[in-house]
Formats: sequence, structure tokens, C-alpha cells
Amino acid sequence: MRNSIEDKLVSGECLTFEDGVRLFREFSFHEVGMMADKIRRELHGDNVYYVVNAHINPTNICKVCCPLCAFAAVEGDVRGYVLEVDEVLRRVQLAVTNNVTQIHIVSSIHPAKPFSWYCEIISAIHAAFPAVYIKAYTAVEIASFAEKSGKSVYDVLAELRSCGLSGLPGGGAEIFDEVVRKKIAPNKITADEWLNVHRVAHKLGIVTNASMLFGHIETCEQRVEHFIRLRDLQDESIVAGNCKLDSGDSGLGYFDCFVPLVYHGLNTELSRTTQIEPISPQDILHTIAVSRLILRNINHIKSYWVTLGESLAQVALSYGADDFDGTVFEEKIHHEAGSKTPKGLSEQRICELITGANRIPVRK
Ligand code: SF4
Repeated sequence: MRNSIEDKLVSGECLTFEDGVRLFREFSFHEVGMMADKIRRELHGDNVYYVVNAHINPTNICKVCCPLCAFAAVEGDVRGYVLEVDEVLRRVQLAVTNNVTQIHIVSSIHPAKPFSWYCEIISAIHAAFPAVYIKAYTAVEIASFAEKSGKSVYDVLAELRSCGLSGLPGGGAEIFDEVVRKKIAPNKITADEWLNVHRVAHKLGIVTNASMLFGHIETCEQRVEHFIRLRDLQDESIVAGNCKLDSGDSGLGYFDCFVPLVYHGLNTELSRTTQIEPISPQDILHTIAVSRLILRNINHIKSYWVTLGESLAQVALSYGADDFDGTVFEEKIHHEAGSKTPKGLSEQRICELITGANRIPVRK
């Protein structure tokens, strides 16, 4: 059985759901890591990619109240805030002065802000800084804009793109399994709805990322199912039935990067009401490695230092990951939930961490 998985990896044949479960249950994290490292090397050699970016979260006031979340505040809460367009622009200006070329914008589902407000943010940034890559709004936010405005997801995305949107981040995927999803984020859009927003974005030629939040109450089987559903959509978006990596030159959008996000439970309703053992570093590396092996048709696997910590993020570069994310500046979402990492890293520090792992830093 072990040989059949290794044979498939050599021939490029897609791994099945059963293969993925076996990788968790029958192979050590180290064995899977070696297989994933080989695939990563075939794809990227010694290169590790990073971006000089800044995160901006225009508001944290949210009506969805996901038990997994420590970032959101309900309306009237003293923690709640809204950054108006001028303040967002001031922060982008500051970021650009510090050589930032990509702005990552994620907020919450504000009960009152109309779709036009979110468009205005993108238009204002794009008008003032046309060279900046604007990666903005999760699929959960896009679906809420469609609901608020009465427009289709297609029209919402087309309008945002005409305002200057460059790509979509991968947040809000959580875990696709509906039973777990109902416990950790019962009021959030379903897995099918999340996937459909990305499907429509890809049809419009928008490049997106995909994430998975793990290390809470999900099983290995549910992680594997999550990978397979992402892989299926990627196949659909690129060339149906082709599991080989595609450059995206088709002009269609696609998933560029898979982002494994480790759950941090501080200040969350989920951790207050459920006993959750912290995930081990071995399990984290095992999961990243399995994602590399199953998601052969997604170019990059992220080692997201914000949720991993600097040291484990370096180690993950030998377990299938090839992307170190970016400088981030002021990360809020995972820090509210207890992430102990710095809120941002300098470009120099990112390059030191990458070279310290015997890899070559490549700025995107
Ligand atoms: S995860 Fe997103 S949608 Fe859920 S409560 Fe937090 S900000 Fe709101």
C-alpha cells in the first residue's frame, strides 16, 4: 500500500481520499515530510517566496459571531472599531512608504456598512496607488456583499475588480465538513457557498488563495476531505480532469496558494465551551506535508509564520511549504486569539529566516 502511494507521487497520479487518510494514519510525519519535500523541490527548487505586504482590517464589528473567532466585536462593544476610507488610505500611504507592494484587506460582516463602502475602499487605494496589488475580502465577505446589495456573486466580484481589486485572500474556508463547521462557525456561509465564490472568481480571471483552519475539533479525515474539495475546484478552474500543475496562462483564475492556518483559541467562545488540546508541532508539519502531496495542482503551500511562529515556519519549509507569506505589519486576527508571534516582520528578518533554512528568498 505504501508503494502505491509513492508510485502515484512519482507518476503524478492524484492521491485518493483513502491515500490521504493513510498518509496521516500509517506514515510518520517525518516520512510524509520527506515525500512532500521532494515534490516541493521539483516545483520550486530552493526558492522560497515572500511578499512585502501590510494587513488592514477596516472593521471588526460583525454580526456573524463565529465561536472560533476572537477578532470580531458586536455592535456597541468597546472593542469595536471602523476605519473610514481616509484612515485606510493613510495606512496604505504609510505602508507604501515602507516599500509595501501588496495590501491584504480582510474585515468582518458589518451589520450596516453597504457594499458601496467596501468598493470605495478599493477604488480609493487603487486611485492613489495604482501599482499596489490589492488582495481583499474573503469569500464570506463577498457572499455578504451579494446579500446586502441584491446582486449576484458574479456582479459583486466584477464590480470590485473594476474598482481595482487584484485577488482574493483564502480566509473563511475553516473546515468544509458541515458537522464541524456548524460547531465552529454555525452562521457562516456553507462550504459549498465558499467554494462557489472562488469558482466564480476564477471564471472572472481572479487569482485567489485557499485556507484551512485546523488544530481544533476536526479529524484527519476531515482535513483530507478539505484538501480534496479544493483540488477538485482547482481542476475545474484550470483544466477539467488534469491533475498536473498549470501556470494559469489560460487566462482563467485559479488557486495560487494553499494557506494552512493553525487554530489559536485564546478569547474564543469555542475554547471556552470545548476542551481542545493544543495541536503538536509534529501534527502541524504532518498536515502541511499531506497538503503538499494532495494539492499537486496548487502551486504554493504557505508557511504562515503568523500562526506557526518563526521557528516552526522555518522547519515547515522542509515539509512541503515554499511560501513564507510576508511582512504583514499589523496582524490582528490571529493575535486576538493568542498567537505569540510578532505582529509583523521586516523584509530583512524574513530573508534571514529563509536563508537560515538553507533556501533562497525570492520576493514576489
Ligand atoms: S470569523 Fe469573520 S465572520 Fe466569523 S465572527 Fe470573526 S469576523 Fe465575523
